[in-house]
Amino acid sequence: RVVQGLARTRSFATHASAIPRNYPSITPPYPELIQNLEHVRNVLKRPLTLAEKILYSHLHDPVNGLGIGGRIRGEAYLQLKPGRVAMQDASAQYVAIVCSLQFMSAGLARCAVPTSIHCDHLIQASEGAKADLERSIVSNQEVFDFLESAARKYGIEFWRPGSGIIHQIVLENYAAPGMLMLGTDSHTPNAGGLGMLAIGVGGADAVDAMTGTPWELKAPQVVGVHLTGELSGWATTKDLILHLAGKLTVRGGTGRIIEYFGPGVHNQSCTGLATIANMGAEVGATTSTFPYTKHMQSYLHATGRGPVAQAADEAAGRGFLSADENAEYDEVIEINLSDLEPTINGPFTPDLATPLSKFGTFVKEQGWKDELSAGLIGSCTNSSYEDMTRVADLARQAKAAGLTTKVPFLCTPGSEQIRATMERDDISSTLQDVGATVLANACGPCIGQWKREDKKGEENAILTSFNRNFKSRNDGNRYTMNFLASPTIVTAMSFSGSLTFNPMTDSLTLDSGKSFKFAPPSGQDLPSTGFTPGDTSLYPLPTPEPQPDAQVIIRKDSQRLELLEPFSSPFSHGNLELPPLKVLMRVRGKCTTDHISAAGPWLKYKGHLTNISENLLITAVNDEGGDVNVAFDHDAPHGLTNADTIPNVAKRLKARNQPWTLIVDDNYGEGSAREHAALQPRFYGCNLIVARSFARIHETNLKKQGVLPLWFADKADYSRISSGDVIETVGLADLLEGRPDATIHLRVTTRSGETFQIPTKHTMSTDQLKWLRAGSALNYIRSQMQ
Ligand code: SF4
Repeated sequence: RVVQGLARTRSFATHASAIPRNYPSITPPYPELIQNLEHVRNVLKRPLTLAEKILYSHLHDPVNGLGIGGRIRGEAYLQLKPGRVAMQDASAQYVAIVCSLQFMSAGLARCAVPTSIHCDHLIQASEGAKADLERSIVSNQEVFDFLESAARKYGIEFWRPGSGIIHQIVLENYAAPGMLMLGTDSHTPNAGGLGMLAIGVGGADAVDAMTGTPWELKAPQVVGVHLTGELSGWATTKDLILHLAGKLTVRGGTGRIIEYFGPGVHNQSCTGLATIANMGAEVGATTSTFPYTKHMQSYLHATGRGPVAQAADEAAGRGFLSADENAEYDEVIEINLSDLEPTINGPFTPDLATPLSKFGTFVKEQGWKDELSAGLIGSCTNSSYEDMTRVADLARQAKAAGLTTKVPFLCTPGSEQIRATMERDDISSTLQDVGATVLANACGPCIGQWKREDKKGEENAILTSFNRNFKSRNDGNRYTMNFLASPTIVTAMSFSGSLTFNPMTDSLTLDSGKSFKFAPPSGQDLPSTGFTPGDTSLYPLPTPEPQPDAQVIIRKDSQRLELLEPFSSPFSHGNLELPPLKVLMRVRGKCTTDHISAAGPWLKYKGHLTNISENLLITAVNDEGGDVNVAFDHDAPHGLTNADTIPNVAKRLKARNQPWTLIVDDNYGEGSAREHAALQPRFYGCNLIVARSFARIHETNLKKQGVLPLWFADKADYSRISSGDVIETVGLADLLEGRPDATIHLRVTTRSGETFQIPTKHTMSTDQLKWLRAGSALNYIRSQMQ
């Protein structure tokens, strides 16, 4: 077997690694994986998609792990052995705290798989890279020191603040074709650009992999996206995923892996594919992947990973890194790249897609001001060398015409390596010449860490090349309309300051009175002289030895870090139904993990559950009355009002030892893989959440923390339950006692005393039921280790 185009690519630039590497730790064990797959083939006896090959070759027990066949995709629960874990600094705080406890009780000295921590989310964006980084290091010193000490103790690679954004670093250093990895961040699938399965999970799942416990995943369905034709002019891979998000919507990928195939895949750069995979998270996909291509091979060489490329070439030659001929997908979507035009998505949701040619009309129809207030490029999604050379081309054209950007224009490099290479190749200076501010290599304005001084509380529109655009996501202002577009469209529009400017057709008027029109941008996917690593003191040594004597210190009076007390089991005295639960509120409409546990200034409390829980659901809408952050305590003691903030009512119930439940709408918990969105309700005493539907990662996170997620069998029942009602489960005991087909009903007693019963559905596996019974997955794992 020859991977398409590989035979033609002997001219790729091979660069020695400027970063120290331990190749065995970053090369998937291909012979073992291929052998595992042979066992699976003996059971399934049918052609396999690429996603299936990668998943099934990572089964804990490849011989018996799939039972005796039958339907797997969408039905079977897989026990998997991921090959790597990566964590960002916000979620890693929880994992490090939990791991320290788990490792101590199990007597483990080091992580079972190579693991890395990346300091990126806690860096604020305000003045520019140097000042922002220095200030953020000082204000987060305690947390960075804590994470570094945990990393030292357990042999984890620690990427210092300033080294870059987790997903860009993973792509440059750890991702490899055919690998299965977990990351405690929803955009972990970015690494799929290198033909692997990278899955965003909560911290408790990461702990599974780090302790060598089988990691469970319900086998996803596989959607095939067949790419034909060629991108041209202004259209980029960003436009492909923006277009697909419009087609699939934020729920279209739930429980599914998106696998791209066809001739159109092979013409895209590896980093361009990473952009597509990154934003698969926006349609709720488990992850996205692509067959091994010549561009992936070149990228591995350019980033100093020739030995990994060589091993991948051999694995591809044995048919491991692409789908089998005639493999069947659960659905196939056809996209002709030649038909794609630049697309702009938003505001407030990533699936509201408008082709650029219709965007001006759309803006006018909505009655929005024709005014752009800022342009932001970069982030983990779009800061590749290709992206940056293409925007630099536009900046050079503009500079030659005497133009500078009309609005603040901010650029976030994805990694220190990208930043240093941009500087060496005069890309940064070209952008700065036309007015750009280059920010630190960190998440900054993508995660509410943009300390924006203008437009506070005012309606305004910004364009970003980021991936997510929920309300308040960038500057904390819920009136900021955030539109997503490719870096080149963001850049060109920043020179006009107008929201209806179409750089493909419109001209700008120069001071001289002449008109200027941009030529379509051109760039280069990889630097001809290779990447330069920049400041290597920010990088870890590869696979450091654990230092068991290192102290992991949490100060008793810390406001940033707090030891976690295990949650207790809700079942007592042999009763296997949940205790009677008070309904805290009925949440209306879109409720993302940003609504449940806001980011921005709250990120600093990620390691302190008591403090961060003060933000529980503070931007959620109460369906009874339509207010934001209002809940009702119908049993308020004398002297307290019934209506209060949501966290305050939750605290009142906790103080009364009254367990409670939430009634929620469709796709509850979409967005970031935010552990705290499950931890916080549980901390305040929530045992059950009943939804019209759940987003995958969040549903799993709830299960891990011992909260039972149930789906309304009839979505209309949502409106029949109100705050103050009491809910009891009926039939949960049957399920817990081993009757898998048992239905859980809810007996509802309303505040007026009326009683009725409704059926529900669930997705609890046998193992997940054990977590529920133990009070949390961690309680269960700990009990198994002792
Ligand atoms: Fe950081 Fe934004 Fe990427 Fe998340 S999506 S990792 S916040 S840059």
